[in-house]
Amino acid sequence: MKYLTLNDGHSIPLVGFGTYKCTAQEGIQSVTAAIENGYRLIDTAAIYGNEDAVGKGIKASNVPREQLYITTKLWRENLGYASTKKEFARSLQKLNLEYIDLYLIHWPANAKNYENWQQANTDTWRAMEELQAEGKIKSIGVSNFFKQHLEALLQTANVVPAVNQIEFHPGYRQQELVNFCNFKTITVEAWSPLARGKILKNTILKDIAKKHNTSVAQVCLRWVIQHKIIVIPKSNTTHRIKENIDLFDFELSTLEMTQIDTLPKMGFSGELPDIWPDRI
Ligand code: NDP
Repeated sequence: MKYLTLNDGHSIPLVGFGTYKCTAQEGIQSVTAAIENGYRLIDTAAIYGNEDAVGKGIKASNVPREQLYITTKLWRENLGYASTKKEFARSLQKLNLEYIDLYLIHWPANAKNYENWQQANTDTWRAMEELQAEGKIKSIGVSNFFKQHLEALLQTANVVPAVNQIEFHPGYRQQELVNFCNFKTITVEAWSPLARGKILKNTILKDIAKKHNTSVAQVCLRWVIQHKIIVIPKSNTTHRIKENIDLFDFELSTLEMTQIDTLPKMGFSGELPDIWPDRI
């Protein structure tokens, strides 16, 4: 596994395992299979309703805790100082862990949902900074933050977010946001890197995959990591779990990277930080 170094000095695996819709017994088995096949980063969230299954999958793998990298997230309806502390304790208990490697604000407060969205994000962040200082979280970060949410947070933050986890795949790149995160030393992590399968029939991606004798999914994931962005594909299928981490013995050329960089928008989830809970 390759690692990146975050702005707080901690290392994070470049490829991780997503767990949205990995629930119950199937979820436990998928997480264990992922760890047994070499994944070290597991990405969950309170809203996925699977933190207990993820915790069981981790235990069943028999890989020592310190070799694993566990991310979970605070749901957007629970922002605020006191609720952050409460929700974090709940996640830790469900996962049956002593600490979390990366804790994220899942979505920013926005004007539609919070009377003072800037304050809600600031209060949440203050609680997370305290939990980090207490040693209960190694790194703190955000998810689905646009530039304006980051700029507002940075006005009062003592700790610069280590990560911004955003939708990022060949059909939806958010290049300006990625540039802004890079400028602020915030590492980008790509969610739905396969656009939940919606981009896998694209003929340009298919041609590139054929040239490298790989799957289209592997091309998408390789493209993400060649951008120095962390990738967390999800699968409940053992052969895909294996395939999605097998990314290190081929390389996309500069031309192929550009071809993918310039694909039209496709497969966008329709989810936006400013309009949640609606989609466009
Ligand atoms: P992905 O883009 O990872 O796609 C998952 C889908 O693709 C599943 O249906 C899976 O099917 C299928 N798939 C996986 N591998 C392959 C393959 N090699 N070939 C063909 N199909 C494949 O979608 P997710 O939305 O799950 O995103 C990944 C992770 O990102 C999530 O699980 C979650 O951890 C995180 N996330 C974070 C969000 C946020 O707001 N911060 C939002 C959304 C996701 P199958 O399981 O049947 O194999």
